[in-house]
Amino acid sequence: MFIMEFFRKTKTCNHPKIKPDVDFAYCPDCGELIENRWYLVRCACCGVKLKGLIKNGEIVPEEHFCHNCGTREYVVERIDKINFIDISYAVLVKAVVPNDYENFTQSWVDSKTQDCKPKLLQQFR
Ligand SMILES: [Zn+2]
Ligand SMILES: [Zn+2]
Repeated sequence: MFIMEFFRKTKTCNHPKIKPDVDFAYCPDCGELIENRWYLVRCACCGVKLKGLIKNGEIVPEEHFCHNCGTREYVVERIDKINFIDISYAVLVKAVVPNDYENFTQSWVDSKTQDCKPKLLQQFR
């Protein structure tokens, strides 16, 4: 039993239940707050979008050189909002938002006086 528990805690979670269309969500598997971050790989020379993937924890282009100009240099840019044109190129990183309890503020709406569900408001650093 102890070993089972140990393995469950150290198992890395890929947060498969986090949908890509949300900015933030709690993973039902590991309980971490997950931020969906989108990245786009572009050629450093001509700027065309390159199909990106994650390799050894790094965002790299799928092809080793630009299909447009042949350059091997590339840049990775963070995009705030994904659109459907970019979605086949972009890389989705499910990043764990660190829980800092010292800076953690939460407010609960009193459910007895308000006709709504309690809302947890969280501040992100
Ligand atoms: Zn998870
Ligand atoms: Zn290029």
